[in-house]
Amino acid sequence: MPTIGLGNVLVSHVAEQSLPVSLGLLTDDGELLSRRIAQLPDGFLDKESNSFQFSSHTWVVRIDGLTVLVDTCTGNGREGRGPHFDGLDVPFLEQLDQAGVPVDAVDIVFCTHLHHDHCGWNTMQVDGAWVPTFPNATYLFVDEEYRRWDTSGAEVHPNDFNPNTFDECVRPIVEADLAKVVSTPYVISPSLTIEPAPGHTTGHAMIRLESDGVIAYFSGDAFHHPVQLTRPELHLPGCDDLTAAIDTRRCLVRRALDEGAFLFPAHFPAPHYGRLTTDDGEVCFVPGGAPEVDPERVTAGFRNAE
Ligand SMILES: [Zn+2]
Repeated sequence: MPTIGLGNVLVSHVAEQSLPVSLGLLTDDGELLSRRIAQLPDGFLDKESNSFQFSSHTWVVRIDGLTVLVDTCTGNGREGRGPHFDGLDVPFLEQLDQAGVPVDAVDIVFCTHLHHDHCGWNTMQVDGAWVPTFPNATYLFVDEEYRRWDTSGAEVHPNDFNPNTFDECVRPIVEADLAKVVSTPYVISPSLTIEPAPGHTTGHAMIRLESDGVIAYFSGDAFHHPVQLTRPELHLPGCDDLTAAIDTRRCLVRRALDEGAFLFPAHFPAPHYGRLTTDDGEVCFVPGGAPEVDPERVTAGFRNAE
C-alpha cells in the first residue's frame, strides 16, 4: 500500500505476512456476510473457502515531527509462536526502509498489546541475543498490559498462547533503558493520544489521532474483521475479557461513526483501513478513502514539515 496523507499526517503500511483464517471462527451467518462483506475487496471474504486474509502489518504514522510505529508484528526467527509465525524470514526492515524509515529514524514504538504478533520487531537477534531493533526510539507500554505479561511480576496470567514473548520482545527494551511504561490516557504529542481499549487483552489500548479536522483510531485487535463493526459481539477465540472487548467495540463503532473517523486495525486485509457508515440501520465498513502521497515526496515532505 502506498503512503497516504490525512491532513498533516502521513500513514504508511508495512506488511509482514498474510494468512487465510476461517470466517467460521467469527460467524456462520451467511446472510450477514453476503449483505455486509461480499462487496468488500477480495481479502475480506473468499467465498470458496469461507475465509479472510489475516494481514500482519505495522502502521507508520508521521506527524508532529515524530515517526511512530504502531504494532510490530512477530519478527524473524521466532520459536514457540506456532505454525505460520515461527521461523519467519521476511524483508520487513527493508520494506520499512523503502517507506522512508531506516531503523534509526523511529522515534516512538507503541504496541497496542503484547501478543506476539504485535511486539515482535521490537527486538531482533544479534549474535544470539535479542536487542532493540530501533535504537533511538522510546518504546511505550501501557502499565496494565505490561503487568499482565511481566514474567517477573505478581500478576502474570496463564500464558500458553504467548510463551517467551515478554522476555524476548519487552525485557530487552527495558534493560536497554528504552522503555516507558505509561498509564492511559497518555498524550504522545499534540495529535496523538493513547487511549484504553480493553478486552482483547487486559490492557489493550489504541492510538487516537486528531489533526487538522482528521480523526483516526489505530485500533490494534479491537476488531479483526469488519463483520464485527456490524455485530460487535462476534469474536475470534482468545480474548482476556470478552464482555469488555464487546463494550470496547460498541463504543468505538459509535465514536467512529459520530466523528467520521478512519479506523486503522492491525489485521484487516487490503486496503487495510477505512471508515464506517450505516445502511438500512446496520453499521458497515467503507474501505480506503484517503489520498495517496507521491512516494518521492514522503520523506522530503515530512522533513520540511518538522
Ligand atoms: Zn493480533
